[in-house]
Amino acid sequence: MKYLSTRGAGTLSGTPQSFSSILLGGLAPDGGLYLPTAYPQVTKAELSAWRQLSYADLAAEVLHKFIDDVPVEILRDLTRRTYTAEGYKNVRPGENAADITPLVTLGEENGAPLSLLALSNGPTLAFKDMAMQLLGNLFEYALAQHGDALNILGATSGDTGSAAEYAMRGKDGIRVFMLSPAGKMSAFQTAQMYSLQDPNIFNLAVDGVFDDCQDIVKAVSNDHAYKARHKIGTVNSINWARVVAQVVYYFKGYFAATGGTGGSDREISFTVPSGNFGNVCAGHIARMMGLPVRKLVVATNENDVLDEFFRTGRYRVRKSAETYHTSSPSMDISKASNFERFMFDLLGRDAERTVALFRSVETEGGFDLSGTDAFARVAEFGFVSGRSTHADRIETIRDVVKRYDIVIDTHTADGVKVAREALEPGVPMVVLETAQPAKFAETILDALGSEPPRPAGFEKLEALPQRFDTVPADAERIKAFIAGHTGL
Ligand SMILES: *Cc1c(COP(=O)(O)O)cnc(C)c1O
Repeated sequence: MKYLSTRGAGTLSGTPQSFSSILLGGLAPDGGLYLPTAYPQVTKAELSAWRQLSYADLAAEVLHKFIDDVPVEILRDLTRRTYTAEGYKNVRPGENAADITPLVTLGEENGAPLSLLALSNGPTLAFKDMAMQLLGNLFEYALAQHGDALNILGATSGDTGSAAEYAMRGKDGIRVFMLSPAGKMSAFQTAQMYSLQDPNIFNLAVDGVFDDCQDIVKAVSNDHAYKARHKIGTVNSINWARVVAQVVYYFKGYFAATGGTGGSDREISFTVPSGNFGNVCAGHIARMMGLPVRKLVVATNENDVLDEFFRTGRYRVRKSAETYHTSSPSMDISKASNFERFMFDLLGRDAERTVALFRSVETEGGFDLSGTDAFARVAEFGFVSGRSTHADRIETIRDVVKRYDIVIDTHTADGVKVAREALEPGVPMVVLETAQPAKFAETILDALGSEPPRPAGFEKLEALPQRFDTVPADAERIKAFIAGHTGL
């Protein structure tokens, strides 16, 4: 299994790469995103055999389809250490932590069984743990092979930074330097990150806003000599290993929603609360592998770049001033960084057309495929979309409590709202639950008049001692800080 860039399929940047050579990287050298040269296929026999597997062993089988330069026994060892009941213990009362991603049945609506796939039982209570925890173990393994080290630099406004820190804490050869805007995150998010005492984790509280943090990461990344000397890397959502780790739970969710170990091969649909298109891109890949997925429903909030594309064929990235701060903040994006992967497939894997389209994103802020053959094929890929607003979110959170006595978070509420508009009689609908309500307590309080339940162990999070360094929004000062703490 080799990997090519969406911008250079044999035309621009030459030879396909192995998994191990793209593992630690982000963008391909030509600015594209990596994808396998062809999607591996699952047979009916594999589908029925995989039904019996634990999450960890299923993950090893799925990963093995994409990774042929790490032995499957090692993959299995890594997945068994990653996906443990202890690591994913933050389940609702009555759910089994050993399922890792329990399927929570809501009920039947308009003749369609509706359920949630709980992906946020990991250490930071959001679905990003699913991929990031595996990435931590994969990175540690890969670095140990060459006696190498990696210094991860990132910027966060909340979920991604904490998922990265909890995945990399205590890992040999890895340090994390995470920039966050001082005083701009919720008390819960701040405490989650800053309470980590591991010596390989550095929280840098930047005197500025999130955009300043992101600009500093860009500035450091553009200093190629510095980056090489200090072995700087990233773990952003375009990393291929993160996407492929997410493919696994579409299989797991499919098996659970179609009757478990003795179930049938009927089609089901998924709804995915979306921002950077990483999560639903993994669903697209599972479907391309042959998983019987009928629809992939992309749910957005008021930041509806993706919904606009799937409705009209127009992709129009937003300016900062047009990007709203919403009550589902992890979906507040102005452009979807993984979208190019799907566009490449939609364009029949034509790298030249992909280059042309994403060049016009840079120069003209978007592109328009309305009326083209390519856009007409969107339905063949199962994609539909919808949008949800703050009022919808509040209404959906209240309604799900009233009908099913289950509290959902704001992002999952966007998913449920949009899923309901896409239901088809007889087709099970699985909404991916991307975070726990405890992370977004303010909005839940507004909706329900009471704070959401907190998983055990999180009760006194904000009272724990915090460890962070305050730094000015100045790339040179931050480079100096990192250089002084890499141990290189
Ligand atoms: C990151 C995130 C999303 C969006 O996922 P993408 O892969 O960026 O589309 C949705 N919900 C929550 C809670 C998240 O943290």
